[in-house]
Amino acid sequence: MNRKKSETLYQEALEHIVGGVNSPSRSFKAVGGGAPVFMEKAQGAHFWDVDGNKYIDYLAAYGPIITGHAHPHIIQAIAEAAANGVLYGTPTTLEIKLARMLKEAIPSMDKVRFVNSGTEAVMTTIRVARAYTKRNKIIKFAGCYHGHSDLVLVAAGSGPSTLGIPDSAGIPVSIAKEVITVPFNDLDSLRQALEHWGEDIAAVMVEPIVGNFGMVMPQPGFLEGLCSMARSNGSLVIYDEVITAFRFHYGSTQTYAGLDNLDAIQPDLTALGKIIGGGLPIGAYGGSKQVMEQVAPLGPAYQAGTMAGNPASISAGIACLEVLQGEGVYEEMERLAVKLTDGLQASAERHGVPMTINRIRGAFSTHFCDHPVTNYEEAQDTDSEAFAAFFRHMLDRGINLAPSKYEAWFLTTAHTDGDIDATLEAADESLRLVAQW
Ligand code: PMP
Repeated sequence: MNRKKSETLYQEALEHIVGGVNSPSRSFKAVGGGAPVFMEKAQGAHFWDVDGNKYIDYLAAYGPIITGHAHPHIIQAIAEAAANGVLYGTPTTLEIKLARMLKEAIPSMDKVRFVNSGTEAVMTTIRVARAYTKRNKIIKFAGCYHGHSDLVLVAAGSGPSTLGIPDSAGIPVSIAKEVITVPFNDLDSLRQALEHWGEDIAAVMVEPIVGNFGMVMPQPGFLEGLCSMARSNGSLVIYDEVITAFRFHYGSTQTYAGLDNLDAIQPDLTALGKIIGGGLPIGAYGGSKQVMEQVAPLGPAYQAGTMAGNPASISAGIACLEVLQGEGVYEEMERLAVKLTDGLQASAERHGVPMTINRIRGAFSTHFCDHPVTNYEEAQDTDSEAFAAFFRHMLDRGINLAPSKYEAWFLTTAHTDGDIDATLEAADESLRLVAQW
């Protein structure tokens, strides 16, 4: 496949944009380097690049594009909003409508506040939890990604009772010291951290279903244990549902029928983003009335935003959720995902390529390994080179995946059986080549 124009544009981009990309996850660094593909047009489940090549897309822009690209209902909503003025700096009725829709779908949120990204949403939930508990430290889980604010870009120390170390230059050690990172699905480590830091812990924060080291389910009892231990310690529970909300069903992990004992796993605060903006920039956070009353102008915890609740993002979000309310929408994405993962697994076996697939309804991850993936360590312990080779063979056959072994494949309402069949054909050939290599 000829991608000459992408290569030229990449050289030009490197001169003007740091690293040539506006988010490091878009670079091909983790898959051997070189020019990322410059896309020009997207429609439904398909992309066209600047060289005129066509791709089937499973990146879905890292999650938000659940209805496929340029969905007519969403485009119309954005156009109408834009025609009425893109930014007011005043409240609007649209914001109330989307807030109501979120609350109805995610009952632990009595009150909502819109922001502009998942990063902002998560960052603010931490501030609110600290304001409410008057404590400073947070516990998070290794491999979960919570955006790029200082507190959450902190890696694990060497054990559950050690403080974090900065994961990025520019984060003071004094800030990393406020974060303890423990392994996902490991209640013993969480217990030890809570015992050790007890009254300092403002909140335990988690992606309740992980989307950032592949798709990983909480093991039975994990979220119940996490919530009950945090509560008895006087700490709040924060769910980062930036990926998971409205991904598996019309609701979030907190209302997902695939988990037991939902009453016991309700968080105090939830961070949202991605899907709830229908592809435009958005974030939101919410929680119980009592906790959310910490936020200005009611309370002492300050958070603000010039663009927050802008009519275009809110309208796109409403339109996206309306599409997702359609009959059988999630069932169809799941049906296609099952067909795709069954086919991938069969191809991998046929060619002798070890592959563990973690699928949750219409989203899944492919891990090049022969062991289960239930935590970050296991996700790291997979064949990065085999993934990189697979990624490149798939790209050359017109299949657009995320250029990282940790990212998920997302089905959208726009994918069809034809797309799955074409993907499986490309994957069979790609896996054959991976096996030879
Ligand atoms: N939380 C999670 C779980 C995410 O996956 C992401 C983004 N991938 C974020 C937060 C940050 O969201 P944003 O990129 O919109 O700032």
